Amino acid sequence: MSESAAAALGDTARRAFDLRVRPTEARIDAHALMHNLREARQAAPRSRVMAVVKADGYGHGAAIAAKAFLQAGADWLGVALVEEGLALRARGAVADAHLKLDTGMGRIGALPEELPGLIAHLRGRPEVRITGLCSHFANADLRDPTSTRLAMELFVEGRRALLDAGQPLQLSHLANSAATIDLPSSHHDMVRPGLMLYGAVPAPRFAGLADLKPAMSWVTGISHLKRVPAGTPISYGHRWTARRDSVIATLPVGYADGYRRSLTNKTEVLLGGRRVKQVGTVCMDMVMIDATDVPGARVGDEVVLLGEQGGERITAQDLSDLCDTIPYELFCAIGARVPRVTI
Ligand SMILES: *Cc1c(COP(=O)(O)O)cnc(C)c1O
Repeated sequence: MSESAAAALGDTARRAFDLRVRPTEARIDAHALMHNLREARQAAPRSRVMAVVKADGYGHGAAIAAKAFLQAGADWLGVALVEEGLALRARGAVADAHLKLDTGMGRIGALPEELPGLIAHLRGRPEVRITGLCSHFANADLRDPTSTRLAMELFVEGRRALLDAGQPLQLSHLANSAATIDLPSSHHDMVRPGLMLYGAVPAPRFAGLADLKPAMSWVTGISHLKRVPAGTPISYGHRWTARRDSVIATLPVGYADGYRRSLTNKTEVLLGGRRVKQVGTVCMDMVMIDATDVPGARVGDEVVLLGEQGGERITAQDLSDLCDTIPYELFCAIGARVPRVTI
């Protein structure tokens, strides 16, 4: 294909995307994001708040999320990759170098016993300016506090060792969402909540501890409806068969969008304000539901995959439980071809 043909095709694809033929989208409630940031601030009133917007704002759109969090008063934005930081820099995020201490995650960071050597090493290098100390909990979401307590002790000791060695530290921080919510002694100068800002909790036990509003509704619309007699098998592998005369609706969303294949025959969606069963293998671009009990269903009707409709709600925790993952992964898996729309 010539370069111009490719460019033209790109334009066509972009135009098609602009036209938004497909009704599948993720609606992001900026007010919910701002509300959740204020909740985090309230949970840690004496600390600064670094709003974590890595992984495209946990799948909510990093630019949308960063804007809302800054508007709501976030002091810092946190990303995982330098590339993510550079992409946000244009919008006013500022980065600084903080030393990372490994307090039990076993991933990156200096081990406590490596600190003295590191301090000595850095003393001879004026080009590296350490302005803070940070760490990350491995188990703050678990009920058993043993490893989290140890991590906090190691952090405090590491901090003291650095200060004793004459290393000024403007910011010390290690609290993620779980610790922001229920571990005030870990808050130090700054907390780094991620998931909670998007309105989900790190584990079900945190549900009652903070007033969080889910920021994302994942919606689509019926693209095809058909009546089938009892005994009709549906989708790849015929893993579901209609037991009664049924109305089957097709939705234009699939595992390529992050609607995971392992949800097959397990999950529900909201249609006409009711919970309706997903039926048959989830395909790459389509998924079927049993709309028999919603007699007024029409092509084009809105269907909620994640979120609220008519007082019913499907949460990220519900969906991730069904496909044996966690809300973090579920959000991040929602594909780039699902437009994020701010409301
Ligand atoms: C992802 C991440 C966070 C935020 O964690 P949540 O559990 O989403 O609150 C904080 N700090 C670091 C280093 C992270 O990688």
